[in-house]
Amino acid sequence: MDTHLSDFVSRTSLWVTQVGSSLPLVSAGSPRCVYTRAVSLPPIAPPATIGILGGGQLGRMLALAARAMGYRIAVMDPDPECPATAVADRQVVAGYDDIRGARELAASSDVVTYELEHVAAAVVDAVDAVVPVRPGRIPLLLTQDRIAERRFAGEHGAEVAPWREVRTREDLERAAAELGLPLRVKATTGGYDGRSQIRLGSAGEIEGALERLGRPAGVSLLAEAEMAFEMEVSVIGARGLDGGVAAFPISRNTHDAGILAESVAPAPVPVDVAERAAQLGERLAVAMGMVGTLTAELFLMPDGRLVVNELAPRVHNSGHWTIEGAATSQFEQHIRAICGLGLGSTAALAPTAMVNLLGTGGSRAARLEAAGLERAMADPAVHLHLYDKRLVFERRKMGHLTAVGSSVGEALERARGAAAHLRWATEVDKEGEA
Ligand code: ADP
Ligand code: MG
Repeated sequence: MDTHLSDFVSRTSLWVTQVGSSLPLVSAGSPRCVYTRAVSLPPIAPPATIGILGGGQLGRMLALAARAMGYRIAVMDPDPECPATAVADRQVVAGYDDIRGARELAASSDVVTYELEHVAAAVVDAVDAVVPVRPGRIPLLLTQDRIAERRFAGEHGAEVAPWREVRTREDLERAAAELGLPLRVKATTGGYDGRSQIRLGSAGEIEGALERLGRPAGVSLLAEAEMAFEMEVSVIGARGLDGGVAAFPISRNTHDAGILAESVAPAPVPVDVAERAAQLGERLAVAMGMVGTLTAELFLMPDGRLVVNELAPRVHNSGHWTIEGAATSQFEQHIRAICGLGLGSTAALAPTAMVNLLGTGGSRAARLEAAGLERAMADPAVHLHLYDKRLVFERRKMGHLTAVGSSVGEALERARGAAAHLRWATEVDKEGEA
């Protein structure tokens, strides 16, 4: 193990041991791909194959960006009809914890990345034994576990909401007494889009709260104070293999019951807030030994403080605006970083808004009604991104619309206006298919 690597691992293991045995960070051999210092390696040149663990919409858009640069794509996902498969050269049909599948992916890839943090660490280790995994296993482990994430952020000078680890009802009562209400109680692993978390507004709701989360009794959970933020923002930082860092302008994000609904960028915030957010994103990316993109979801407090809510070692829904709105998209940036190429400019080209297209109604074949689509796309400032998911259902992320404007307000109005026209067909229109 390199000296700088062991330094990093011992530093990292301090808080990892606090987290407990659920995070076997340093036990299973030497994690090869921790980049605490600049690394001078020749770039991975096209037509090399980039392997992607996970074939959802993020994998699909990563693959599209990589394809444009001449790379080939292999994807591992349990769903043979996953969004990324249409733009991949090959797919390994396997779950995110399938070691055999991971080895198969590694065998046909020159570098591997992941598009979601719910990949088993053992899968990343299996790949890492064959080809580099970037961003690597430590960013994955740090962000898979909300408690590890908070410890990490706190240790690197980032503020997080006051929190407690709770396992029992007594713990939760103590947390409520110490932190006050409302509280957010979150599963430490596996949650996304507002799932696996609950809000406790009053003491009366503590009864049965842990059971409502549906996790086994006694399992570690995160209870944290609900923050009365002014707005939610996020920063996407990237770090290249050569140690270069660059953050995109921050976006302002609006959630609907835990799911991202809209983002606008550059966020309408004072310059010093934007600068502090960018510095925070870059600092955390360096601290994590990241090669690739790191997203930090932040709460901007009324007094200007930035509080880290969540970290993701990957491209992020709140960065989709960069496809049309920035000099380099977050997807291209991630590919440049993991392939050892210099990072692209993160400059915003124009005020941009992104509106997510969520599914409505019961599960059925996904098809947009043509008339609404026509009306939505009548606005030349609007761009459509659909993820080609075969089934649509209530609140499923199906795609997004981007609009570029002269102000974020105008861009948002146009994106919303277009989105309002779109409807998912109630049943497949046979005539329309002809
Ligand atoms: P997920 O993994 O589902 O994105 P988050 O922890 O980011 O989980 O929570 C989803 C959303 O819920 C956040 O974007 C925010 O709107 C709200 N939320 C979560 N935690 C808090 C908190 N401590 N205070 C206020 N709002 C919160
Ligand atoms: Mg979140």
